[in-house]
Amino acid sequence: MTAPTLPWSNRFATLGSDFSVPMQTTPLPSPYWVGHSAKVANDLGLPCNWAQSNDWLQVFSGNRSIAGSTPLSSVYSGHQFGVWAGQLGDGRAILLGDTAGQEVQLKGAGLTPFSRMGDGRAVLRSSIREFLCSEAMHGLGIPTSRALCITGSDAPIYREEAETAAVVTRTAPSFIRFGHFEHFCHTHQGTQQGAAPFKELKILADFVIDHYYPHCRTETRWGNNPYAALLQVVTERTAKLMAQWQSVGFCHGVMNTDNMSILGLTLDYGPFQFLDAYDPQHICNHSDHQGRYAFAKQPNVAYWNLFCLGQALMPLIEAQEPAMAALETYKTAYPQAFAQCMAAKLGFSETSAPIEALSTEILQSMAADRVDYSIFWRTLSHWAKRGAMADPSVKDLFINTAAPNDWLPKFTALIEQNKSTWSSALMLSSNPKYVLRNHLGEQAIQAAKGKDFAPVSDLLQVLERPFDEHPKFEAFAAFPPDWAATIAISCSS
Ligand code: AMP
Ligand code: MG
Repeated sequence: MTAPTLPWSNRFATLGSDFSVPMQTTPLPSPYWVGHSAKVANDLGLPCNWAQSNDWLQVFSGNRSIAGSTPLSSVYSGHQFGVWAGQLGDGRAILLGDTAGQEVQLKGAGLTPFSRMGDGRAVLRSSIREFLCSEAMHGLGIPTSRALCITGSDAPIYREEAETAAVVTRTAPSFIRFGHFEHFCHTHQGTQQGAAPFKELKILADFVIDHYYPHCRTETRWGNNPYAALLQVVTERTAKLMAQWQSVGFCHGVMNTDNMSILGLTLDYGPFQFLDAYDPQHICNHSDHQGRYAFAKQPNVAYWNLFCLGQALMPLIEAQEPAMAALETYKTAYPQAFAQCMAAKLGFSETSAPIEALSTEILQSMAADRVDYSIFWRTLSHWAKRGAMADPSVKDLFINTAAPNDWLPKFTALIEQNKSTWSSALMLSSNPKYVLRNHLGEQAIQAAKGKDFAPVSDLLQVLERPFDEHPKFEAFAAFPPDWAATIAISCSS
């Protein structure tokens, strides 16, 4: 095979030296493949057999440079757990550049000027979780960064205990975060009267608008204020993302503003969890002692984060009113998007007040009995498809098997009344059979630690098509084992 190459452009690097630092990756000793996504490879235009090639293995381990790429790490700041954290930045992610419209980052590829107290590395455990969840979210139709591959090494990495190193190659049209804007707002707070106030902030906002949201320049709603239009579109995208997270039962765990994507993508997979039992107060991050990022709080946290973004954009928006109006749209965009998602889970292509009331009632009923979230919705889909109302499968999921008597008849009545907009096919394509439960990830991690990478690849195969039946992998759709409740996922990664 010829030397690894891709047609790189280096969009982010064109922003200049205020935004990033040129970087070299730190070699990963004796790397090996842990997993890869053929779909992402195809999107990037990688040659066939790349995943069998030692040359590409070396590239994606950070051991070999790739022609045309100008690696860099970017600076950003952010609010962490509600508190201004000051400068952060890509502490272990190195951006190779962009190709086929996707930025390509090596996460865990060594120290950068932004590593602070960290070692610039990522462990195998967290890398497998990020890799699988990225592709799982994409399979669910939820906007996300993607993951091309994981390479591993036996080099020891010290967290709570000794682990081993890995690098995830991840992609996104842009990895720009709310925190990038906060950074350039904050660093220029003192120069508002200066010659070129907020110059970098404007360069950044113009870059994002020109590359990702060009319609902001022609948006008339905001009286030729492209920056208010930018805040508006990010608000809308974030609202939709939150609706999708909430409806699928995804808890991110660390919704700091530096983990919020300007494109409304799910970003930075850490202590995330797909709910097993439905508990709206569930906290998936073991380090989140206050429960700031508990499942039910996510939509409000996103709104809070959008205010941070709005604050950062104020020097460009200038007037308070359009900024507030743009942020205000969250109050309608989120409930609408959530109602639409929940209606689809019930099989209705259009929502209505009675459908919303039903979905609220069902969620309350599930919360009371801590019903398994994904199994419930999938079971309800089959129940509705069979149309056999005597079928006990749904009731059997409740401790109080009589509880569904309150709302199952309402559901059947609504199906009857909305025949033209209801279909069981919509239910089955809105309620995944397979989600990346913690214990499934854990099993794949344990196997990978013993150099058995088949479970990573099996899970990937299933999670890429989570709404389909995979008879060979029925076990991945089962109730979590008792030990799943004892898995403690912290920020350590
Ligand atoms: P996170 O909460 O994982 O998004 O990380 C917050 C910040 O810490 C980001 O700026 C990361 O780049 C940085 N960081 C996390 N882990 C490490 C590490 N092991 N080495 C260097 N920087 C890290
Ligand atoms: Mg982060």
